[in-house]
Amino acid sequence: MQSNVECNLPTPESTTPTSCSESNGVELEKRNAYNKRAGRGQVLSGLTHECGVFGAIACGDWPTQVDIAQVICLGLVALQHRGQESAGIVTSAGKCAKNFNVHKGMGMINNIFTDDSIKKLKGNLGIGHTRYSTAAASEAVNCQPFVVHTQHGALAIGHNGELVNCDSLRRNVLERGVGLSTHSDSELITQALCLNPPEGERDGPDWPARIRHFMQLAPMSYSLVIMLKDKIYGVRDPYGNRPLCIGKIVPLDLGNQTPEEVPADGWVISSESCGFLSIGARYMREVEPGEIVEMTRNGIRTIDIVERPEQKKQAFCIFEYVYFARSDSIFEGQMVYSVRMECGRQLAREALVNADMVSSVPESGTAAAHGYARESGLHFAEVLCKNRYVGRTFIQPSPRLRQLGVAKKFGALSENVKGKRLVLIDDSIVRGNTIGPIIRLLRDAGASEVHIRIASPPLLYPCYMGINIPTREELIANQLDADQLAKHVGADSLAYLSVEGLVQAVQRNLKSANPTQVGHCTACLTGEYPGGVPQELSW
Ligand code: SF4
Repeated sequence: MQSNVECNLPTPESTTPTSCSESNGVELEKRNAYNKRAGRGQVLSGLTHECGVFGAIACGDWPTQVDIAQVICLGLVALQHRGQESAGIVTSAGKCAKNFNVHKGMGMINNIFTDDSIKKLKGNLGIGHTRYSTAAASEAVNCQPFVVHTQHGALAIGHNGELVNCDSLRRNVLERGVGLSTHSDSELITQALCLNPPEGERDGPDWPARIRHFMQLAPMSYSLVIMLKDKIYGVRDPYGNRPLCIGKIVPLDLGNQTPEEVPADGWVISSESCGFLSIGARYMREVEPGEIVEMTRNGIRTIDIVERPEQKKQAFCIFEYVYFARSDSIFEGQMVYSVRMECGRQLAREALVNADMVSSVPESGTAAAHGYARESGLHFAEVLCKNRYVGRTFIQPSPRLRQLGVAKKFGALSENVKGKRLVLIDDSIVRGNTIGPIIRLLRDAGASEVHIRIASPPLLYPCYMGINIPTREELIANQLDADQLAKHVGADSLAYLSVEGLVQAVQRNLKSANPTQVGHCTACLTGEYPGGVPQELSW
């Protein structure tokens, strides 16, 4: 396609400066040039995830004995919590392959991929994607990975995140005569990579130079897997806003060797590490912010590390720890579950209650509730039983049943709560429309007091980096303070974890090769945006 077009894309300065206070947030609301929420997936209850990316390549002789398509499919199943709208896998046999093998569809992984479709996805390497739409409509045309055919061969891309300067980037790509068939950031990235870098190319395409050039123009937010016929590039934006990590496929029998010592059967790259053990892989490390890694049949290596503008700090999304990631994933050298426990400990230090027991809204607040219990000395007991089949009912509830709200989703363990003063921990409050019915359920079951403790700070601002957050008016923390909210939902008291407390909990046991650069995005809590906010957006 457009592989020989001169590239002169916009600079990162096309985003506004770094802070979005309440007042300039109002200004933003007035700018209605392009409402990016249009066409997005609906935010029905809470926050919605972005996407999950996955890649796998076999080492040694090709054709490989490693079941690449199955590895990717299982890897995507482990990332299903990051997107349930659509998914896809693209595989390649190697340098001589005429075409990529592609299978994409709408819905959950298990419905999209069958034994037959997996058999057709033959190959020695491949990438996969599971999607929740943040920046384009939920339609089959937006399913990823995107595949384009350039003059230098086929290229496939999977993207997690959202480009903060996508509108100016889009205008510039269109001005270069490149057609875009969707509103997806991911197609935009794909086409931007097909443009020649400004320094030109001597002997065929210089993909690392193209990727580097794109990263200099689009500072955030993305983790990418990019597949050529015989290699995969893994790319993390210079702020490290979205996660990406590397795993090693090891032989089933390691003998006396450690996973580090044994030769790799293959390599995988993924948004999260939670699925690695189930596919016979071991977690090795994160892709560093700004890093470009190249995966071939010979192994994995760092091609380049692109610096952040003006030496700014990293800005890994703190809500990955709070809410999005699976508890068994590892970020920055620590397991997400441990960080959630630490949030609970910090919450107990900040907002202790005189009560008989601690519990959680399953399963979201459970790790934090255990942390709260250990720090406070109160004992932990379950009080809610979750109905795991509730999503399968096709019966429309009558108005009376609808008023009971979450009663169909949870049952109360009445023997545990009867006559008890209870501290109930949840990970976050977004709209505040689920906690009230839970409190009523517990009171109906005999709880004498219900104190709500939230293991994250109030959510006040939008996210422009790949997370779909309800509107300002819909966020309950913009309408009611903690005491008002307690009254509104029928709690005896309600308190949030502070922003400082959350950052401390996340950074207390963090392992970093470069501690001075450690940093986390807290923009939806503070309004301070690490890479600026797009001028064209409204919220
Ligand atoms: S604004 Fe919030 S949800 Fe978005 S990247 Fe930052 S911390 Fe994550």
